[in-house]
Amino acid sequence: MSQPDVKQRDLLELVRPDLRGFGGYKSARTEDLRGDVWLNANESAWSNPADANATSRRYPDPQPVALKAALSSLYGCAPDELLIGRGSDEAIDLLVRTLCVAGQDAVVATPPVFGMYAVSARLQDAKLIAVPLIDGPEGFAPDLDAIANAVLEQGAKLVFLCSPANPTGAAIPLAQIEALLQTLQGRALVVVDEAYGEFSDVPSATTLRVRYPEVAVLRTLSKAHALAAARVGVVIADPRLIAVLRACQAPYPVPTPCAELAVAGLSPSALAATRARIATVIEERARLASALSVLPGVRRVYASDANFLLLRFADAEAAFRALLAAGVVVRDQRSAPQLDDALRITIGTPEQNARVLAALNAQTVAA
Ligand code: PMP
Repeated sequence: MSQPDVKQRDLLELVRPDLRGFGGYKSARTEDLRGDVWLNANESAWSNPADANATSRRYPDPQPVALKAALSSLYGCAPDELLIGRGSDEAIDLLVRTLCVAGQDAVVATPPVFGMYAVSARLQDAKLIAVPLIDGPEGFAPDLDAIANAVLEQGAKLVFLCSPANPTGAAIPLAQIEALLQTLQGRALVVVDEAYGEFSDVPSATTLRVRYPEVAVLRTLSKAHALAAARVGVVIADPRLIAVLRACQAPYPVPTPCAELAVAGLSPSALAATRARIATVIEERARLASALSVLPGVRRVYASDANFLLLRFADAEAAFRALLAAGVVVRDQRSAPQLDDALRITIGTPEQNARVLAALNAQTVAA
C-alpha cells in the first residue's frame, strides 16, 4: 500500500464543524439533582397496571449504568469508550450524521455488504463511494488500496469495514486494518462492524484503538447473544467521539425492559450458554459447508467466519424455490453486486440445517 505524505488529523476534526461543542438535549434524567419526590419530567405518579414490576413509569437512564458496566466488561473497554444504542443500526446512522456534512462529505462502503451503511449515507445526503470487494480464491476481500485512495483523493470522512462481513462471511485480518489506518493517518474514521465477531477467531479491532484513535468498533447483542428484539448495540471509540455521538443521539435510547433483559442476558450463566451456542454454530457451519459443497447444483460455498454461509448455485432460483417449498426461508442475494447466483443461509439448529440439506438434495436429484 502506498504511503502518501499526509498530515495527521485530530480525531475531533472529523466531526461536523457545526456539531463540535454541541451539547444536545438536556433531559430531566441527565440533571444531577437530589431529592426523593421526582416531579421534574412530567411522568405519571402511578404505574401502568401492565407494568407489574413498576420499571417503566419513569424515563430510563439514557445510558443504563449496569448495562454499560456489563457491556464494557464484555468488550474489554472503559465505560466512557462505549455508547449504547438501538442496535448497531443506530450507531451507523449516528456516525454518518455526526461526521458527514450533508451534500458535501462522503462515506466508503465495500459492496456487496450490509445495506445500512448506504441507507444511512443516503438519509444524510452523504456521497457513497462504493469500493467493491474483490472475489478471489480465498473468498471476498476489501480492496484496501482503493479504499485508501477514496479517502486520500476524494476526502471521504468515514470508512465502513464489515468483519466478518455480511453477506460474504469473510473476516479481515487485523494486520490489514492496521495497514489501512497507518496509510490514512487519521484522515477518516475507520468503523469496523463486528456484528458477527463472536463467530470468528480474528481478534477484535478494539485492540487497535490504543495506537489509532480513529478506529471505531460496532458490536451487537442481536446475533451471538440472541437478543435481536432487545435492540442493543454499541459503538466503541475514543471517549471524545463517544461524547459527541451521545449529544447527537435521542434522549432515551435504551428502554428499561430491554436494558434489564440485556443485563440478565450477560450474566455469567447466560454467557456460558451463549458460548456453548457459538461453539455449536461453528461446528454446524463446518458440517453444513462441507455437505453443501459436494451437491451438484452448488458452484461455490464461501468460507465463513460468521453464523451464515454464502453459496453460489448453478440455478439459484430453483434452489431458492426448493427451499421455500420445504418451508425454509433464506436470503436471496441475487440483486446484490457480484452475487447474481447467490443465496445466504443462516446456520440454524442441527435439525433446521438437516432440512436445508434435504431440500437441496431433493432438488438436485429432481433436476
Ligand atoms: N451490522 C451487520 C453487519 C449486520 O449484518 C447487522 C444486522 N443484520 C447489523 C449491523 C445490525 O444489527 P443490529 O441488530 O445491532 O442493529
